[in-house]
Amino acid sequence: MNIQRKFVEAVKFIQENDDYLLVSHVHPDGDTISSTLAMAHVLKALGKSFTMVNQDSIPSRFDFLPMAKDIHSSDELKRSFSKVITLDAADKKRIGNIEHLLLKNAEILNIDHHPTNDNFGKINIVVPTAAATAEVMYDLIQEMAMEVNKELATCIYTGLLTDTGGFRYSNTSSKVMRIAADLLTYDISPGEIAEISLETISRNHLTILKRAFDHVELVENDRIAWTVLYHSDLNDLSTTSDDTEGIVNYMRNIEGVEVGIFFKEVQSEEFKVSLRSKKVVDVGAIAKGFGGGGHARAAGFTYYGKLEILKEQIISKLLDFKGWGSIE
Ligand code: 5GP
Ligand code: MN
Repeated sequence: MNIQRKFVEAVKFIQENDDYLLVSHVHPDGDTISSTLAMAHVLKALGKSFTMVNQDSIPSRFDFLPMAKDIHSSDELKRSFSKVITLDAADKKRIGNIEHLLLKNAEILNIDHHPTNDNFGKINIVVPTAAATAEVMYDLIQEMAMEVNKELATCIYTGLLTDTGGFRYSNTSSKVMRIAADLLTYDISPGEIAEISLETISRNHLTILKRAFDHVELVENDRIAWTVLYHSDLNDLSTTSDDTEGIVNYMRNIEGVEVGIFFKEVQSEEFKVSLRSKKVVDVGAIAKGFGGGGHARAAGFTYYGKLEILKEQIISKLLDFKGWGSIE
């Protein structure tokens, strides 16, 4: 089915039903939160009822987003839903431990932009060329001929801004810039949004950065840079996933490095691995090989086991990648 038909089906799903559960992905980022809130605004404008949920807590810096405080944690909800909309989640694992909130034959509308998305929904709007799920939400709103207002514009702009790293990553297309230009006509505050979403460093983040920088290693002729934070590093600070956000980018940004990696030991011998590449290596494919996913330049997965073994496996998978020749 072509994407236009899918958009039509999605609009039908939204218009003909009610009482939706809106689900954003685990360890929520700016795009998944903003896209969820954008969908909430759409449903509100249509007079539909909805409940928003996330397995984890929403980083407080996103409190400025309209309705952000209405996103529930999964244990707060006591009933299940038959109509579900997931935003920015590439597979069912990414929506986390919320199975108990889904009725047995729940229908899922899956809206996303990850090329590794496995189309787990009944309707799947997966647009890998979109820089952010927020971009897909913008297109959906156009398809519905809905009016954009300041709240909606703030949400979509924040999703675009965060998933393009402040309109800097290679996913910053002319379409992204055209959408952003349109959103800026709704009296939103780009300086403030950027300062809150991207610039401000929490005290915890500062402490964590110091530790992370202490553990940096360059391997394989300095083309791969990685760092690690152990469970013990994280445990004696009351950290949230937001406090470690962006560490992997520093690894990738080091001169001469193609792949940056951040190992975060969330539990003893359970590592959340973040991968970034500069130009060539498809880290999405590598992450998929480890049961995760993502994009060519930004991806991740979870690994259970010893870090030394994981490092060896990653190096071997990375070196198998055929494209290195073009950067040597
Ligand atoms: P991050 O490293 O910032 O957590 O994630 C980078 C990108 O990879 C994001 O697009 C994110 O959605 C995706 N990603 C991270 N971890 C996983 C994972 O375990 N599974 C999948 N499918 N995608 C992931
Ligand atoms: Mn995204």
